[in-house]
Amino acid sequence: MRILTGLKPTDNQLHLGNYFGAIKPMMMLADKFQDAEIFLFLANMHGLTQLHDGNQLKQNSINILKLYAACGVDLKRFIIYNPADIPGHAQLNRVLTCLTHMGFMERMHSYKEALDKGTAKEISVWVFCYPILMAADILLYDADIVPVGKDQKQHVEYARDIAIKFNNKFWETFKIPEPYIKPEVWTILGIDGRKMSKSYNNYIWLLDDEKTILKRVKQIPTSTQTVEEPKNPDECNVYKICKLFLTPEEDKELRKRYEAWGLSFKDAKEYLYEKIIAFLMPIQKKYAEISDQEIIDLLHKNAEKVNELANKKIKDIYKKIWFSL
Ligand code: AMP
Repeated sequence: MRILTGLKPTDNQLHLGNYFGAIKPMMMLADKFQDAEIFLFLANMHGLTQLHDGNQLKQNSINILKLYAACGVDLKRFIIYNPADIPGHAQLNRVLTCLTHMGFMERMHSYKEALDKGTAKEISVWVFCYPILMAADILLYDADIVPVGKDQKQHVEYARDIAIKFNNKFWETFKIPEPYIKPEVWTILGIDGRKMSKSYNNYIWLLDDEKTILKRVKQIPTSTQTVEEPKNPDECNVYKICKLFLTPEEDKELRKRYEAWGLSFKDAKEYLYEKIIAFLMPIQKKYAEISDQEIIDLLHKNAEKVNELANKKIKDIYKKIWFSL
């Protein structure tokens, strides 16, 4: 079985939301499917549409892969690769684009959302076409499972529909991928109680220093309840973030402290700060030990193997559509 997922290197950092919402579920999935091959690719062709700076894209890619490794992603097991080394992505994208109609693409939620904000003339061609490139990224490797957030489910459905259409029109060629939807519980809140996101400026980066983390924790808004008043942990942002770092026993203990009297929000924030530091410092230490070159070498090494696989698939596809005579 093959699991495939991409990461878009449009930022040079990752935050706690990325860790608990993407990296951790990915590692858990890898544990669950011990025999699966796991393909993790840099979605830099998708990233290029947002970031027109090659050097930045390169450095972001390296930093993010180093962070994945520092967080515990086993890069001996996860096959990381760069589609820029593998012409098959662009080749298959071209073939699939020829088979896809405007009306089919116009049903896309993300396109409709973009239309709600402006006119079709202002929307990038990429927004309209990106599920086709995503379909190529997935179908090129006969992926069985594609882990995505709920908002990306429709894009995997596009890949499925495109694959079915191709298989019906030509010969059985593509495996039909299954989306693996990450549960809602994996939505991580930022310091203001909204979804943690770079655009809301409510994040804690995995590489933030202690001073910045303390400042961020202090910024978490709390109610005006006094120390003496029992508190509902489920209504407290400090608790909601803290919960991510707790064992079930620690969680039970903290909930008890909230529900009894005597816990100030200052105490709760200090506790959260200590938990975040205990979690992030080992990651930061490991990150500092990984060199950029190690990541570049691994990408080059994997490119050979992945390219071989992709070329084989492209040959088969070209044969099926009579490109190769
Ligand atoms: P982004 O950089 O926002 O495209 O996110 C990259 C990955 O991290 C996606 O798989 C998201 O689902 C995940 N992610 C980002 N922010 C959060 C969050 N606040 N909660 C859960 N997952 C998140």
